[in-house]
Order: sequence, then structure tokens, then C-alpha cells
Amino acid sequence: MVEIGTSTHPTPHAEARYILLAKQKILTHQGNFLFTLADFHPSADMHSVFCGQFEGNDIFVCRFPHTPKGFQEQGLRDMLFELDDYYYGLLSRAHQLATWDADHQFCGRCGHPLTTKHHKEHAKLCGNCNLRHYPRISPCIIVSVRKGNQLLLARSFVMEEGRYSNIAGFVEAGETLEQAVQREVMEEVGIEIHNIQYIGSQPWSFPHQLMVGFYAEYRSGELFPAPDEIAEAGWWDYNDLPNIPNPTSISGQLILSHAEKIAQEA
Ligand SMILES: [Zn+2]
Repeated sequence: MVEIGTSTHPTPHAEARYILLAKQKILTHQGNFLFTLADFHPSADMHSVFCGQFEGNDIFVCRFPHTPKGFQEQGLRDMLFELDDYYYGLLSRAHQLATWDADHQFCGRCGHPLTTKHHKEHAKLCGNCNLRHYPRISPCIIVSVRKGNQLLLARSFVMEEGRYSNIAGFVEAGETLEQAVQREVMEEVGIEIHNIQYIGSQPWSFPHQLMVGFYAEYRSGELFPAPDEIAEAGWWDYNDLPNIPNPTSISGQLILSHAEKIAQEA
């Protein structure tokens, strides 16, 4: 687990470990993605952010405009599905902090360049208007809906054919998580649900979602997939599920645990 810590952020040093990024890709060398300062050449156009501690070492994420020689680029999503859960939080956090650093170079209120970081928080301070800029985190609900011994699964137009997942969507301004769950299910497949129960959450760095997972139960209505968003939706028996997301993702975890819950009751 990454220790986020509350003390003053260090600057890059020889004992630290480094995660390298270029063009939103994680850089690897012979399968490794944690480096020491001796393994690469810090350049003038490299930007580093302190991420916390991992296995007792300070961790920095360093962002390069171009991939340095000798490194391979790897997509974060692919890596997360190849690695076990042990590194998930670390890579997720590094990626989100690098995104924050890259996307907050100017103050959104007054346009002043943001050159000052807070000494112990991940916040950039505007030297002109004093506004603080924190990493953007976007809450997203994801819900597994049950009807008797069946689970609701849907395929959006962006998903490959034959693969099904839960209903998910961004929380709107001023909305509670439960309201977002009800609204998304109604908008995407046209049914009413109840007994909404919080299950767990997962940071999802594509680019900065916080997925908040729920179970819910069907209440009323016929499935009517939103024509602009959902290619197909249906009910599947808990013991005859189609191709679903990898269990590294909260989406896969919710479906599998919900099916297991039904199996125990059956
Ligand atoms: Zn400002």
C-alpha cells in the first residue's frame, strides 16, 4: 500500500524509487517499472511529483515529454490487468498525480502560471489570486442490479461485442451517490431500483475517477436501453454469466461477489 503521509514532501534523492511516464504511458525496462536515479537521466524538461512511500522508499513519478532511449511505453490499463493488486494503488496514484501536475500549469481563475507547490499537500498555489489547485477526482457510481436470481448486465457502444458490464456513470453536481445510482440506471436502461447498498470503491485513473460501487434490486419497469449509449442490456442468471470485466476492476469484482451472494442464498 502507498503511505500517503503528512510530513513535508521531499525533493528527488538517490535513495528514492521512480516511476517514469511519457505521453500518459508508464515506462518500463525489462519488465521493471520502479527505478533508481542511476537507471535514467533526469532531463531539464522532466517534471517530478512526490507520491508517498512504498515499501519504505520515497516514490516519485517523473513525467518526460518524450520517451528516453532504452525504455518501453506501456498503457496503464494493460499493466493494471497484468499485475496483481499489490501495485494497483501505487500506479494509480502516480498516474493521477502526474495528470494533475500536467493539467494544472495555469490558474483556472486568473490564468497566472502555477509554479508553487504546497510543501506537504498535493496542491498548487496561485501566486496571484491565492486559489489552490488540488488533483481532480471525479466520483463515478457503478451498480450491480439484481432481479431474483438474475443480474443486470449491459454493453455500451464503446465496449467490444460479447462483453457485458454494470451500469456506471459520473455523479452530477449537487447529487448524492444514491441519486446518481437511481438516475444512471433509469437513464441507461429505463428501470426503477431500490435497496441501494454501498459495497466498496476503487480509484480508476482513466484519468481521475473514483469508482463507488453498489448493489441494488430491481423494483419496476421494462428494460429500455438508451439508444445513444447502450447497445444491449439484459438479465443473466447468476450461474451463467457472459464475458465480464477482469476482477482487477471493481466492475468485475461487483458482478462476481453479487453472483456469489445469490449462490449462497439459493
Ligand atoms: Zn489565480
